[in-house]
Amino acid sequence: MKQFNKNISIVVPTYNEDESIGELADEIAGVLQPLKLSYEIIFIDDGSTDHSWNEVLRLSDKYPDVIRGIKFLRNYGKSAALYEGFKAAEGEVVITMDADLQDSPSEIPELRKMILEDGFDMVSGWKRKRYDPLNKRLPSKFFNATARTVTGIKLHDFNCGLKAYRHKVVKSIEVYGEMHRWIPFLAKRAGFRKIGEKVVQHRARKYGFSKFGWERMIKGYLDLLTVTFTERFSKSPMYFFGSLGTLMFLFGGVIAVWLITEKLIRQMNGLVIRQVTEQPLFYLALVMVIIGTQMFLAGFLGELVCRKSPSRNDYLIDNKLNLK
Ligand code: UDP
Ligand code: MG
Repeated sequence: MKQFNKNISIVVPTYNEDESIGELADEIAGVLQPLKLSYEIIFIDDGSTDHSWNEVLRLSDKYPDVIRGIKFLRNYGKSAALYEGFKAAEGEVVITMDADLQDSPSEIPELRKMILEDGFDMVSGWKRKRYDPLNKRLPSKFFNATARTVTGIKLHDFNCGLKAYRHKVVKSIEVYGEMHRWIPFLAKRAGFRKIGEKVVQHRARKYGFSKFGWERMIKGYLDLLTVTFTERFSKSPMYFFGSLGTLMFLFGGVIAVWLITEKLIRQMNGLVIRQVTEQPLFYLALVMVIIGTQMFLAGFLGELVCRKSPSRNDYLIDNKLNLK
């Protein structure tokens, strides 16, 4: 059995939240200290330009052995912050939480219980009653509905900042780009199937302002395309490009051949003919043949790239028996 240094790691991505994090640390301590659980709070200062880092330093004096901090030189985004936090986390259960006090630390014990006793690999918070403006809640509903259909994971709230993970999960996934919205999917893809959710209390932002604007929706959808695509075809791009390319090539080819034969037959029978090059359909067929060939080539290039990739044989292994 693996021994863990801490019972709980709390990972907090922090970008210009100097007014909130002191209160947050006090609240977390208020919940966890009476339970006699060992814990660490890892603040990842994502290149803040306010006094967030000074606050982290102050807190580490106030709660030595509890506060850990990582400071980025510049703003890299929430995913990067989570990535570093996951790398550093030493707890048996890892909890992520926003720095802005919108998530309530009082949920932590129950989330931990769901991981340790109910056997969940990951539990996502569900802000059933949300204290955000309507222009954020509505798109979020669409977003989550799409996400459920595409990923097959039945969660109401993919993008909730408050989530709990089994230690192994955070060490097996790599959050990058803006993938923090898709962590449940990354976890599922890594083989962790027991993903649950818990209705959590949500609060209005007390200080500062949201760091994400409307463009989050567009990015979210594009990222979803990327994850589903890489999930299905990253090990064999030829399956995607090759089949699509062949289909287009054949379709275009058949149309072209048909146009030419039709013309020849009419010509032989002395009927009025239309030049093949005068028919719009011919150009369509031509374009399809060309694009089809290019797709096919893209598939080949993809295969070449995959073959060279150092991660082409990376598999997450759960257990090994009697193997040296
Ligand atoms: N955050 C971050 N880097 C960024 C943007 C946000 O670390 O580039 C943090 C932010 O400090 C907060 C969390 O991510 O702790 C969620 O951000 P926010 O509250 O602005 O998002 P919202 O609640 O509007 O979804
Ligand atoms: Mg927030």
